[in-house]
Order: sequence, then structure tokens, then C-alpha cells
Amino acid sequence: MSWEDNVRKVVPYVAGEQPKGQVIKLNTNEFPYPPSPMVASRMYDLAEAEIDGATSMLRKYPDMDATNLVNAISKVYDVPFENIFVGVGSDDVLAMSFLTFFNSDKDILFPDITYSFYDVWASLYRFPYKQIPLNENFKINKNDYLDVPNGGIIIPNPNAPTGVYEDPSFFEDIVKNNPDSVVIIDEAYIDFGGTSCLPFIKKYDNVLVVQTLSKSRALAGLRIGVAFGNEKLIKYLKDVKFSFNSYTMNYPSIELATVSILDVDYWKKTVNMLIETREWTKKELKRLGFSFEDSMSNFIFTKHESVSGDDIFKALREKNIFVRHWNKPRIGEYLRISIGTDDEMKKLIEALEEILNA
Ligand SMILES: *Cc1c(COP(=O)(O)O)cnc(C)c1O
Repeated sequence: MSWEDNVRKVVPYVAGEQPKGQVIKLNTNEFPYPPSPMVASRMYDLAEAEIDGATSMLRKYPDMDATNLVNAISKVYDVPFENIFVGVGSDDVLAMSFLTFFNSDKDILFPDITYSFYDVWASLYRFPYKQIPLNENFKINKNDYLDVPNGGIIIPNPNAPTGVYEDPSFFEDIVKNNPDSVVIIDEAYIDFGGTSCLPFIKKYDNVLVVQTLSKSRALAGLRIGVAFGNEKLIKYLKDVKFSFNSYTMNYPSIELATVSILDVDYWKKTVNMLIETREWTKKELKRLGFSFEDSMSNFIFTKHESVSGDDIFKALREKNIFVRHWNKPRIGEYLRISIGTDDEMKKLIEALEEILNA
């Protein structure tokens, strides 16, 4: 016997690297433009309040319900307060949701090629799960999720890292067919051209729609995620969260996320800029002999007709351009390239031309 027998051993999630210095970073799907200028402006206000010690807010515990933030989300998304849950990034929201809703001895279902945190959480909680293969075009076969006993379903839309998007009707069939389990739709990338499943929360009590401020609102560093669902789901989620750690949402991030949410014009403008750059990048990649399923996200998952994914990944790295590559079955030839600024994508295309002509 040793204390190590009592250790919960897990293989952790591996995030894309965060290189230091002057590099072109297209490996973790961060938004290439800064967050709303209202965020920096609010930061000044908060700092001023702290400098005048009498008005310090950091002295106190934050608002457990993140009321300002939830009110802002409620207003912009036209969803009642009781149907909204916020957490420290959608990773926190999803981890809490697994714990709350997938507490079953039946398999949790999700695709084999998907966000690689899902199997990590399932293993951490010791929930059984089944990874269902996508077809050769990285499409989800809807029937795999119909009439199959399960302890819960989670699917990203668009899927990551494939970028493949399905219409809400596709998910509605899955939600309708599984009234006895909770279906989580992870919409981390929905703002880049897709239609959200958010309206389903009014119609079905077993669907949770999860979004994040890390991607389209350029706030990965702030750590804010959101879940929308029936008030009963949200109540259960809050009960678990408040049994774990009530004060995860700190005061500055609640305040900064609030002004970001309210600046709808800036959000839409910068998302449209990104979409234009993505469409330009798709054309250029095709010209260079790359192929991909159409992406509705802020990244493109692509392979080259003749040069291996690993070789291109390494050659780009030599040129200080970071993209994501997994040495995993089925996707080893692929690169996931986040969409950067126009200038970054021009440099990427130039680098790829050099590599392919070498
Ligand atoms: C980025 C991402 C998340 C997590 O984002 P947070 O920064 O934790 O909000 C969740 N799901 C998918 C599919 C993602 O790509």
C-alpha cells in the first residue's frame, strides 16, 4: 500500500503551446483582434476605484450570481436571467455540466474526432463514454445518436477541430429523440457564420447550449463561458457549482465581460472582418493544393495533396508560424490553422508557398 493508490490518476488535456516572442500564432483559435475598447476603458475605471482605497471592490467577495454579467447576457440574447449560467471559460461550464448532468452508468456519447477535453472530463469523473466515428468527410451521422441508450450527449457545433457545421434542425432531431438525457451543444464557434440552437431551450428541457467569450469576443485571457438552458437545468448546475466553489467568477472579469457583451456593434464588425479573411484564406489554400471540409469557424482543418501534415507543421514552426497538429489516427495529415489578421494570413500563405516549392 502507498498513498499513490489513493491518487486519482488522469491523463490531462493538452492545450496548444503559448510560444513567447515575435511569432505568428495560429494554433489555439484565439481571436486576432483586440477585445472591445470598452473593456480597456472599464479596466481604467476599476483601477481608479482601487487606487482610491475607499472605493476598493477587490477587498470584498464578488457577486456569486455575477448579476451584472448575466443581466447583460439576458438583454443582448433576449433570454431570461433564470436560463443563464456563467463560469470561468466554457471549460469550467462544461466540466460542471458533465458533473451535473452526465452522472450515469450509461455511456456519454460524442464524436471520435472532437474537442479533446470531453474524454478527459469523462475519465476524471469515471463516467463511461463512447466515441462515435465521424464519416470520412468528418460528418456526424445523426442516426448514431438516435434510439441509442446513453447517459448524455455532447457535440460541438461547428465541430472542433474539423470546423464542420450542422443546421439547428440536425440537433433538434437529436434533442427530441433523447428526452431522457441531457444534450449539450458546445457552440464555442457558432458566431463565425452558423445559426445557434439557443431557441431550443424554450421548447425542450433537456438541451444545454454552451458558448464562450474566448473566441468571437477576443477574451480568452479573461475566462468567461456561458450556458443557456431550461431554468431547471440551470438550477441544478448552480447547485453543483455552489457545492464546489461559489466564488469562481472574480469581480474584474465579471465587470469586463459585461461591457464586452454590451458592445454588440464592435463584436459584429470584428467577426465579419474575420469571416472575410477566412474566405480569402480558403481560396489561397485551395490554390496551393490543400483540401478541407467547409469551415464555419475561426479555423480551417486542412491537409495537403502531397506534403505530410507533420512536415508542414515543422517547417512552419521553423519560420515562427505556429499552427496545430496532432499525431493521432485519422487526423495525422491535417493541420488546424486559426484565422489571424489579413497580414498574418498573407505571411502564412507566403511561408506555405516557400515550403511547398522547396
Ligand atoms: C475553445 C473551446 C472551448 C473552451 O473555451 P473557453 O476558453 O474555456 O471558454 C470549449 N469547447 C470548444 C469546442 C472549444 O474549441
